[in-house]
Amino acid sequence: MIAEMDQAADAMRESGAHVRRHDLQLVFREIQQAHMPHLSREQWLELFELWLERDLARLQTERRRTLNAILDAIESAAKANGPGKIRCVCGAVLKDPGDPATMAEHAPHVATIAGLRRLAR
Ligand SMILES: [Zn+2]
Repeated sequence: MIAEMDQAADAMRESGAHVRRHDLQLVFREIQQAHMPHLSREQWLELFELWLERDLARLQTERRRTLNAILDAIESAAKANGPGKIRCVCGAVLKDPGDPATMAEHAPHVATIAGLRRLAR
């Protein structure tokens, strides 16, 4: 039941919609009724709170993993570039990596590579 709820929450987030606590609670209630229909209101609400806490911890772990993947990608790109020349993972040489417009253009490239690495783990 918990794994099913994790999957449902992930699917909701991946759809790009803004997922609110209330939305999660509705889906939780549906899944809970299918698996454990005998629970009282207090019991299912408590179970939802426990799931929500666990879900938050899971998201934080995932965020840390993604951040590490981005850092790895930056580090390996920096090593490949050698000193004095900064190249994005897309291959473009960045003349001014501190420039906001440059970052806006190339940060998604780095994030994409990091996302792919994460999927590859
Ligand atoms: Zn780029």
